[in-house]
Amino acid sequence: MASDTVRVRMAPSPTGYFHLGSARTALYNWLFARHHGGKFILRIEDTDRTRYHPEALPDMLESLRWLGLCWDEGPEVGGDYGPYYQSDRLHLYTEYAEQLIKEGKAYRCYCTPERLERMRAEQRAAGQPPGYDRRCRYLTREQIAACEAQGLHPVVRQAVPLEGTTEFDDVLRGHIVVNNSQLDDQVLLKSDGYPTYSLAVVVDDHLMAITHILRGDEWLATVPKLKLLFDAFGWEMPVQAHLPTILDPSGKGKLSKRKKRLPDGRQMLTYIHEFRQGGYLPEAMVNFLALVGWSYDGQTEFFTRDALVRLFTIERVSKSPSAFSYDKLDYMNAAYIRSLGQNDLAGRLLTVLRQADVPADIETTLRLTPLVQERITTLNDVLSTAEFVFGADPEYDAQLLIPKKMDAAGALTALRASREALAEMDAWNEGALEERLRALATRLGLKTGQLFGTLRVAATGRTVAPPLFGTLDVLGRDTVLRRIARAEEMLSTAGLTA
Ligand code: GLU
Repeated sequence: MASDTVRVRMAPSPTGYFHLGSARTALYNWLFARHHGGKFILRIEDTDRTRYHPEALPDMLESLRWLGLCWDEGPEVGGDYGPYYQSDRLHLYTEYAEQLIKEGKAYRCYCTPERLERMRAEQRAAGQPPGYDRRCRYLTREQIAACEAQGLHPVVRQAVPLEGTTEFDDVLRGHIVVNNSQLDDQVLLKSDGYPTYSLAVVVDDHLMAITHILRGDEWLATVPKLKLLFDAFGWEMPVQAHLPTILDPSGKGKLSKRKKRLPDGRQMLTYIHEFRQGGYLPEAMVNFLALVGWSYDGQTEFFTRDALVRLFTIERVSKSPSAFSYDKLDYMNAAYIRSLGQNDLAGRLLTVLRQADVPADIETTLRLTPLVQERITTLNDVLSTAEFVFGADPEYDAQLLIPKKMDAAGALTALRASREALAEMDAWNEGALEERLRALATRLGLKTGQLFGTLRVAATGRTVAPPLFGTLDVLGRDTVLRRIARAEEMLSTAGLTA
């Protein structure tokens, strides 16, 4: 089944939501496949029914699609090497386990859980390393028949060579040698007929003609056992590359899936859907994730997807663990937002606004876009402007309308004069608004900060908002004039101008 085409696979178990570590593994596999003109295969390792999580698979497929990591073979798309769910392949594992039994490379083990527990306790007491004592490996035909007659449900174990070494190369970790005496007679089929990870993964990687395996380095320890199985079948093991651990932002511990907070109080997101819902761009996520454990020249930070495909090689994957920096992701996300065309960004902002039930329309969102583009870190940051742009006239304390070193009467005069000046304007745009209001400040003998401050509050209900002229432009003449009139009324009725 050796193939000239590069074929890599992502083989997740649907046990929880799709997280950063899995996304990084998927991305590297996808990049590797695309770089070599090969195939990226998605195989669902769903044989552990006790850990099955019904939302895991849809969440993963949606996350992969959002990241643009489409698979060439697998769920929903099919392919020539299916089925792609291990639960649909159970007959294969049984068949291959039987083959090994026939060849004397595996055997049925009838030991009961109680016996195994006793055995382990004795090993512990005697200070021996844990491991199966191989009792059933040497059962006679009669003993086997007796066990069968008792109706015992056996597991199938591999008869691991008792001497010699098992060796393999990992592109990133180098040559690894393990003494066979340290390896247990591993279980291949459980007593319920389900395969173990080792058997299923070896059979599938072989039958699916996988050429390279890129996966997290927590799987490195399993490779000697997998190699023993590849050897037992007489199959070639795919090239191995175990990717560096992802550390949390402190660089001290492994990035955990448990919810934690960053020192600045922000929540540490770990699932891909949290980043999607948090207003991160898939382009930024892909660029950022590519750099968690890979670099091109140690300094270039921004890569288009095409550039990543062109430049990605395993040799440039780091051997040491890489820390995940949320600050860097934010910085990249903001940069990607700035680089988007305005129509593109407006469309994405509109989606975010609508999802948050803001009654946003595309025309206003298009006008709002240039105003926020330079200022937001995530798409969701647009929501802070949503209230005064798309909402009802804002509520605020009338005191805010009174600028420093002015009294209420002065503020009222300034607002009234502004309203009259703005009402007369022919063109309503940023440049014209700026010209008119600067001239007005001069005419009223006010500092621009004083006049603009009171207008900002009147128009938005806030002392801090995006730049004033752009904001007034987006709000439109009717809204601005109405809100100024309302501010005048608030100042009068609050009795502040007495
Ligand atoms: N099913 C394993 C997982 O959940 C796959 C490990 C591998 O890639 O071999 O990650």
